[in-house]
Amino acid sequence: MKLHLPAYPEGIHEIHESVEPRELELDTSQFPNPVEANLRLDRHDPYLDFRILLETSASAECDRCLEPIELKLTAKSPMLYVFGHPPEGDEVDDTEIAYIRAGTTELDMSAQLRDLLILAYSGRHLCSDDCKGLCPTCGANLNLDSCECHAEKRHTDFDN
Ligand SMILES: [Zn+2]
Ligand SMILES: [Zn+2]
Repeated sequence: MKLHLPAYPEGIHEIHESVEPRELELDTSQFPNPVEANLRLDRHDPYLDFRILLETSASAECDRCLEPIELKLTAKSPMLYVFGHPPEGDEVDDTEIAYIRAGTTELDMSAQLRDLLILAYSGRHLCSDDCKGLCPTCGANLNLDSCECHAEKRHTDFDN
């Protein structure tokens, strides 16, 4: 996603764009749907001060039963771009600040947006909090079936 900076003079701007996952170099098997990007830009040179809100739905599989599920993803973050060079000798490892060349007219935010979405995607995915998962012996989906081995195992557990 690129912003043509001369279109945004000093002041506050609300920017809405629907971005194709391909454009952000996201895996389209995980991110099949457009990403709704809502940006609030407060420009006061040399600062481009963003509040980013991203919304999309992603595809995943349940960590327990492996059924496909759709995730509603929301990612929210501030992001500050600064015209110029980082202060001398200062190691910048803050992911929420980036330095851009003075005079830049096309601001490519794709890498930052991609990172936010990948972070929002990470973590546990369950089809429901009480998903029963797969039988470790026969692989049956225990949300749909109760298999013989499962019944026996429960029985054993009960005996112990
Ligand atoms: Zn599940
Ligand atoms: Zn089983």
